Amino acid sequence: MKLVQRVYLREVFSGLGLTARHFFRNMGRHVAHALGRKDARGAVTVQYPEERRPYSPRLRSLHRLVRREDGSPRCVACMMCETVCPARCIYIVAAEHPNPEIEKVCQEFTIDLGKCVFCGYCVEACPEDAIRMDTGILEFSSYSREGMIYTKEMLLALEPAGLDGRPGSPIPIPPDRTP
Ligand code: SF4
Ligand code: SF4
Repeated sequence: MKLVQRVYLREVFSGLGLTARHFFRNMGRHVAHALGRKDARGAVTVQYPEERRPYSPRLRSLHRLVRREDGSPRCVACMMCETVCPARCIYIVAAEHPNPEIEKVCQEFTIDLGKCVFCGYCVEACPEDAIRMDTGILEFSSYSREGMIYTKEMLLALEPAGLDGRPGSPIPIPPDRTP
């Protein structure tokens, strides 16, 4: 290498200049965008959370429990999802179903989303299509571990017949949860 290359200083300043040029150019575009020039875009192409990209239909999002036509959970408490879950974060308590043609129903169905790895095995394993991960809800963080525990009632409230007739309808968020 030549002496000027071995000293590296020229390359260091060349790199700094390139970084600075991109930094100020992007900052100028962000400022212009914030001042109303919607066509000006910086390095961040999606201004989340104000702008959102459509999710893929294959996305695995917050779980929900599906209901029967009579409103009861479709879950028959077979424990397949609890057994297959690699994170051991599903807890089910079985009970007799009032309909004699259905053997069991879940009395309690809890998912600790603080442990869940969103593998989707529970959905794949379910023989009744009773649990789905199609709500499209990804923002359910919490300031506490307890806040990540979702009960049967919360999971059922996401079912289309639950709140406003749409999948992904909002559920009651406890006060300690972030919006
Ligand atoms: S998505 Fe995976 S880790 Fe989460 S509850 Fe289902 S099986 Fe368990
Ligand atoms: S696999 Fe389906 S039916 Fe069986 S306990 Fe889980 S949600 Fe209920």
